[in-house]
Amino acid sequence: MQCIFCRIVAGQLDSDVLYQDEEITAFRDIRPQAPTHVLIVPNKHVSSVEQLFDGDSPLLLRMFSKAHDVAEAAGIADKGYRLVINTGPDAGQVIDHLHLHLLGGKAMRPDGLALRWKDEMT
Ligand code: AMP
Ligand code: ZN
Repeated sequence: MQCIFCRIVAGQLDSDVLYQDEEITAFRDIRPQAPTHVLIVPNKHVSSVEQLFDGDSPLLLRMFSKAHDVAEAAGIADKGYRLVINTGPDAGQVIDHLHLHLLGGKAMRPDGLALRWKDEMT
């Protein structure tokens, strides 16, 4: 099995799993970008949301709902958090197994999305 997240789901690769059921798994990002940085993934290999709109969008709802649960458990649901799904190369998706980033635990600057573009790299 090549896919890193498939291996985490199958318990073949060490990770800090916070939640798992028959459909989804939540585990801590190995390079956290925020005090709370958790990834929520479907257990089955789905490369991106582009693959889901064919008919399995309830899975997306489950992932978002679990993000809420994780945020609540981390005590950040009230203060706020950001949910991100990078989709495809232009968006910087590095791992081709759908994952929802839950980021929070600290106040972000109110400067919109603060996106950084590849053609502006220095
Ligand atoms: P993306 O750029 O949206 O594809 O994000 C991939 C994320 O996966 C990054 O935030 C990585 O830090 C994270 N990541 C990569 N390998 C692992 C791993 N073995 N365990 C947990 N998170 C990982
Ligand atoms: Zn996979």
